[in-house]
Amino acid sequence: MRLRFVGTGDSAQVPRFGCDCAACERARVLSCHRRGPCCAEVRVDGHRYLLDAGRMDLAESCERERPAAILLTHYHADHVQGLFHLRWGTGEPIPVYGPKDAHGCADLFKHSGVLDFQPGLKPFRPLRLVGCEVIPVPLTHSKPTLGFCLDDGGTRLAYLTDTCGLPVETDRFLRDWRPDVVVLDATYPGSHAEPRNHNTVPMALEILERLAPRQAWLTHLGHEVDAELMSVTLALPPNVALAQDGLEADLCAAQAWTA
Ligand SMILES: [Zn+2]
Ligand SMILES: [Zn+2]
Ligand SMILES: [Zn+2]
Repeated sequence: MRLRFVGTGDSAQVPRFGCDCAACERARVLSCHRRGPCCAEVRVDGHRYLLDAGRMDLAESCERERPAAILLTHYHADHVQGLFHLRWGTGEPIPVYGPKDAHGCADLFKHSGVLDFQPGLKPFRPLRLVGCEVIPVPLTHSKPTLGFCLDDGGTRLAYLTDTCGLPVETDRFLRDWRPDVVVLDATYPGSHAEPRNHNTVPMALEILERLAPRQAWLTHLGHEVDAELMSVTLALPPNVALAQDGLEADLCAAQAWTA
């Protein structure tokens, strides 16, 4: 299984419009420090699965290679906004899976076009895709949200965003399921007072300590995390790293990753 981080920012992205903090100023000059809307893609046996659809060039990327399916964690704009353009495309319908959410986002369900919305996924009920099994797990967020536990028979990947902590049943499931790789929401730095809807970096590290994956990446990172890291050195455990836009990893081969 190959994992590619397409976007690793929060809903404001980095640089954040109008912000003159050190991280946003740096990202304006050096594009490698930019963070787009949080989304990723997984490749299994030649099939490409998209995890969330917030990137604004989604239609272009699907034109280069049509995805086998799109998995949506939830219906906040930064995770689905690319669909508003893609839906008016033509050709084979693209299956879209996501949580049960009667409201969804705007009129996506009403005018779905080329998107083939499947019935809402039920937590812990496995979904069989070509080349891998996906177990949706509930997360703690302001909208119905699911994390995805993907298993291709060789590697187990848990993709968990957006979330503030983990529901007890998800935490229990994950400790039992034992993911090899975890990707986790860490929107705010530790100095952020009263985090709601998203983890701080210390909250994410606490979860990762419990789950003890071989490798973990923090994602959905806000500009405050980057700004804080520019002045304070953050000691991350050896198995944890910050995700970056464009980072690609072969999850079968430990540590073999390239930007
Ligand atoms: Zn988000
Ligand atoms: Zn900023
Ligand atoms: Zn969200």
